[in-house]
Amino acid sequence: MIQQVVFILVILVFAHLIRKRILLIRSGIQLGKATPTTGDTSLRWKNMVLVAFGQKKMFKRLVPAILHLFIYVGFLVINLEVLEFVIDGIAGTHRVFAPYLGSVYPVLMNIFEFLAVAVLLSCVFFLVRRNILKVPRFWSAEMTRWPRLDANLILVVEIVLMFAILFMNAADQILQARDAHYTSTGTLFFSSQLAPILQNLKTSTLIIVERGAWWFHIVGILGFAVYVTYSKHLHIFMAFPNTYYAKLEPKGHVNNMPVVTNEVKSMLGLAEVAATEPGRFGARDVNDLSRINLMAAFACTECGRCTSECPANLTGKKLSPRKIMMDTRDRAEEVSKSLASGGAGLNDGKSLLGDYITKEEINACTSCNACVEACPVMINPLEIILEMRRYVAMEESGSPASWNSMFQNIETNFAPWKFSPSDRFNWAKD
Ligand code: SF4
Ligand code: SF4
Repeated sequence: MIQQVVFILVILVFAHLIRKRILLIRSGIQLGKATPTTGDTSLRWKNMVLVAFGQKKMFKRLVPAILHLFIYVGFLVINLEVLEFVIDGIAGTHRVFAPYLGSVYPVLMNIFEFLAVAVLLSCVFFLVRRNILKVPRFWSAEMTRWPRLDANLILVVEIVLMFAILFMNAADQILQARDAHYTSTGTLFFSSQLAPILQNLKTSTLIIVERGAWWFHIVGILGFAVYVTYSKHLHIFMAFPNTYYAKLEPKGHVNNMPVVTNEVKSMLGLAEVAATEPGRFGARDVNDLSRINLMAAFACTECGRCTSECPANLTGKKLSPRKIMMDTRDRAEEVSKSLASGGAGLNDGKSLLGDYITKEEINACTSCNACVEACPVMINPLEIILEMRRYVAMEESGSPASWNSMFQNIETNFAPWKFSPSDRFNWAKD
């Protein structure tokens, strides 16, 4: 009975912590501007099923994709076992599903164990790739301190959690052989390989190992659920809405500014437009971006595929599209935390542009869309960059002096070049 009460209290404490974090993240996303969802809804669902659920874009790099798939499927499937943990914890039962599932139970448990081993080996591979092979995109400037620790920590935690399952099952099987009161699970192939390590332990010690691993695993899972909300691993959940709301227009499409279009139309006499306050052009801070931009920032996996394909970054410029997303997320979180504690929020004297992202970074972008194409969860760093450029150009007139002649040419010649529109076909004369 005491164990059940403790278990329920543990669940309630973790549920409270998770709820608090979800509300904070939601308020961070709601700092952005609400935008209508347009376009083909069935295409949006298709994107979500193929890209978020089916991991389609991951398969551009086969080996990491397969290993990532093991971790992902392991996460989904092993969590079914957690359901049994929770029912056992609340009801005070042991392996509550076993009598109902009969001979299916050992089959399921063997599948869980196979996935646990696959997850464990995949995590080892990813640790080696990050820390020994030192793949460059995991060691770039923005991947220091917490981002680097976060990536390693999660892999180590997953390895430990998988070992906990295997040791729990191994101890349980020995106890089944010694004490008929233990529910039979049949032979579990992978955990039975650990039996020689535990075989000579006393029954009382084995019970401690089995119960210890059980508690460790369930508290570990609950702790993991809280930790995920502080971590890049939030993408496990955020990838789904992000792929659903991702831009459907062709990549070269640049979002129009309706206030400017209306103004031009009224100047040309094409539309009767009521005079409206245009508001701010472009984005200086997170509240100038859309909620979809901010949601994308929380969905970023920090994988760096965007940065590794970015021509500006590859040619030594300061720009990294991954950093753009990380900075956007950090600023949104800073503001929502400040507001939650009664602080100054957006009026804290800081802004996304300037304090997090510099003009040098946004000016280095070639608008090539390589980052958008590379992103496995359909994030669009370019949209944020272009909004900040708009702010600099239209609100501050702060674009580099070398761009001014191009702006002038567009204004007078309707093209970036210096010749008049009437000379455009001179090249075809002869
Ligand atoms: S659009 Fe800009 S940020 Fe994205 S890859 Fe091209 S240059 Fe880099
Ligand atoms: S924006 Fe996409 S590609 Fe870039 S780091 Fe984030 S998840 Fe990876």
